[in-house]
Amino acid sequence: MPSRAAHAVIGRTGGSDQGHRHGTEGVTTGTSELPVRPVASTRDNLNRQALRGLDFLSFGSEAPPRESAMILFNPKQLSAAHPDPKVNEILRKTVAFFEAKGKRRLKDDDRNRVWYADFLDFVQREKVFATLLTPAGYGGPEARWDTSRLCVFNEVLGFYGLCYWYTWQVSILGLGPIWMSANEPLKRTAARLLDEGAIFAFGLSEKEHGADIYATDMLLVPQPGGGYLARGDKYYIGNGNEAAIVSTFGRLPESGEYVFFAVDSKREGFQLVKNITATQSYVAEFNLNDYPITDADLLSRGDDAWNAALNTVNIGKYNLGWASIGICTHAFYEALTHASGRSLYRQHVTDFPHVKQMFLDAYARLVAMKLFALRASDYLRSASNDDRRYLLYNPVVKMKVTTQGEQVIDLLWDVIAAKGFEKDMYFETATRDIRALPKLEGTVHVNIALIVKFMQNYFFNPAEFPGIPRRLDPVNDTFLFDQGPTKGLGKIQFHDYRKAYASRALPNVKIFTEQIAVFREFLMKAAPDAAQQKDVDFLLAVGEIFTLVVYGQLILENADHLAIPDDLVDQIFDFMVRDMSRHALQVHGKSSSTEAQMAFCMNLIRKAHTDEARSQRVLETQVYSLNGAYAMDE
Ligand SMILES: Cc1cc2nc3c(=O)[nH]c(=O)nc-3n(C[C@H](O)[C@H](O)[C@H](O)COP(=O)(O)OP(=O)(O)OC[C@H]3O[C@@H](n4cnc5c(N)ncnc54)[C@H](O)[C@@H]3O)c2cc1C
Repeated sequence: MPSRAAHAVIGRTGGSDQGHRHGTEGVTTGTSELPVRPVASTRDNLNRQALRGLDFLSFGSEAPPRESAMILFNPKQLSAAHPDPKVNEILRKTVAFFEAKGKRRLKDDDRNRVWYADFLDFVQREKVFATLLTPAGYGGPEARWDTSRLCVFNEVLGFYGLCYWYTWQVSILGLGPIWMSANEPLKRTAARLLDEGAIFAFGLSEKEHGADIYATDMLLVPQPGGGYLARGDKYYIGNGNEAAIVSTFGRLPESGEYVFFAVDSKREGFQLVKNITATQSYVAEFNLNDYPITDADLLSRGDDAWNAALNTVNIGKYNLGWASIGICTHAFYEALTHASGRSLYRQHVTDFPHVKQMFLDAYARLVAMKLFALRASDYLRSASNDDRRYLLYNPVVKMKVTTQGEQVIDLLWDVIAAKGFEKDMYFETATRDIRALPKLEGTVHVNIALIVKFMQNYFFNPAEFPGIPRRLDPVNDTFLFDQGPTKGLGKIQFHDYRKAYASRALPNVKIFTEQIAVFREFLMKAAPDAAQQKDVDFLLAVGEIFTLVVYGQLILENADHLAIPDDLVDQIFDFMVRDMSRHALQVHGKSSSTEAQMAFCMNLIRKAHTDEARSQRVLETQVYSLNGAYAMDE
């Protein structure tokens, strides 16, 4: 028997004008009549059984009213899916907060750039940041830094609005250098401030220097009687208007030694210049005008300060993928529900062949984003001095998941067209916000430049590692605040990717595996020469191919852990094969590509295995079944 929720959802789907009638009648496409299976076919039952294993995949979905709802987060179908009761409680209360606020006010506040004091009051009242962002031992009994819990909160904030996510994210960044510091009294102060509901900021960027943090010119000038005066300006600093502590990066004038120090945005000497952005968030330019600093305010200096800057970004950049996942999920529900209710030329829009393809691709890409980001969390939580694989997987979350998010929104927007401009739609804000994630905390380029450093060892020097299970266990992610020197990336080893690729004998996984073999041969027999290795443009194109291999590996690992059905995995690798071909064409077209490299690139271009029946099954049972599954309360 379906659950009550299932009845409600199915009722809405099938009974209204909006209802997409798949499963009850033939589907007329532009050119053909596609077969539609009976609702409870054997295959459906098999799918349903396979998908039961997914209950824990979406942290917030209840026992299966419909398969797809279990993969995508749905605020209307929450259950205690994460093993930690506290994070489930926080999730439930956060959803209740936003649904009570309602879409109209959410959009009004966005349009009018209202500072989100209501959200911060909620955070303070429920001690959300205090619980999730205080490492074990510094806060209450339920406080710990547990990345699997952070994923839950990241996703729900992205789902409702990037500005809410941003104040949380820059608090995470601001706390990084504090929790990495040896300054115990300051850590205790930060824990107390968190408990009181404070927010934090990360003062790294400067107007003139962008990604080049070597050039930092915020100065900490030693004073004859002891202590220092901080002098300089910072730019693009989120929460700069309200942060209780701004972890500020600078250097000592004579030695050039780097230093991190704590600044209070409310003290004299801190000059808030302006909000650089026209958004609800406050992304500050601020000056420190001889702001007094004592030794008690110092967080770290020298190599420790440098490492704290990079290691904080290592942790923080992971969250950006989740913001993209949250945004895409909400936009997906809106787009699908709108398109399903629309008829043109006496035909459902969702029956146009190109619209089907766009929804299939959007869904497969979104599920892949989530599978990869979830799996990367397992490695992040298992990291140690002997296992630094997260240093590859995190930049992939940062650049790949977020750029996939852009593609998902592009696909959906092409379907809903004018509707995506309407001021009352969440979608309208999604089209703007999704663009931010690939650019912040290191651009796509910076992250691919980092990723290619791992390519040699990844392909040619694998190592044995104990298997990493799903990591939802209630432990503190202590290593993240003790990551040590940021050097030696080229020496980091990885487990053999071929094991994951051998785990599913599916047509598109096989084709993709062949493409990987060709790319490996490319690297052996036609590796970029010295000049190409200095040509960032060429390396970025090659890096896209490598990134795709890593992406597919962790998707497959998680497909195994989470019992993702074959149909969906093959559908994901359908777009992976096409993407690999596209990236190969890019490398082929580079001005410096050699004849040998071009030949390998041509060999990399493959056609994905076409299986209409599979695509139709995925479309019916997992994508179009989400019509009407979620709409935000007005
Ligand atoms: C809304 C918003 C909020 C922000 N919040 C904060 C914050 O709270 N705290 C904070 O410290 N910063 C913050 N930032 C700054 C943000 O992290 C930087 O914008 C980002 O790191 C990139 O710097 P840039 O945009 O100035 O690009 P630039 O560094 O000027 O880059 C110019 C171009 O060079 C490329 N490039 C640069 N270096 C490399 C490289 N090594 N390899 C290959 N290509 C390269 C880039 O990809 C880009 O195409 C924020 C920015 C914005 C817009």
